[in-house]
Amino acid sequence: MNVEESVTSLKAVIRDVPDFPKPGIVFKDITTLLKNPKAFRRALDLFTVLCGDHLADKVVAIESRGFIVGAPLADRLGLGFVPLRKPGKLPGKTMRHTYTLEYGEDCLEIHDDAVTPGERVLIVDDVIATGGTACAAGELVRKLGGVVAAYAFLVELSFLDGRSRLEGDVLSLIHY
Ligand code: AMP
Repeated sequence: MNVEESVTSLKAVIRDVPDFPKPGIVFKDITTLLKNPKAFRRALDLFTVLCGDHLADKVVAIESRGFIVGAPLADRLGLGFVPLRKPGKLPGKTMRHTYTLEYGEDCLEIHDDAVTPGERVLIVDDVIATGGTACAAGELVRKLGGVVAAYAFLVELSFLDGRSRLEGDVLSLIHY
């Protein structure tokens, strides 16, 4: 199977859920990919190759589905892992950023010692829609003095052009 065929096979196991979490949104449900061991491994293999050329020190992944792909990616690339979490979840001193979503408003926090000045990070999430979440993640990393090596997503909703909100390299495996 070549890369294009592999990506097509992954698309086939991502489920569209119409009108979730609210009317008009077609939710890309990756749980149907994750429960399929061959598809999950194939997605991680391709994702690792996609991100492997970008020199980085850490993966910064976005709660919660970003953790599912971000943690194995960090392990495979030999990088540290940093969780970005919803407010009130991280026990240490945090920095916070509020942003707008495709369906509402949200807020992310990072431990203020999670990234040190000059460190290069890969920002990882499962899906990029409007780009607001990833943009907020980039802001937090830069506030701590980190450098965004690239943004990386398993799925990109290209028609929403979220990547135009992000500065720097934007990598995605599966496009709609
Ligand atoms: P955005 O900030 O609009 O790029 O939204 C990205 C975040 O919301 C990611 O954490 C995604 O998991 C989630 N998300 C937004 N829209 C969708 C969608 N249509 N299908 C699946 N996840 C989505």
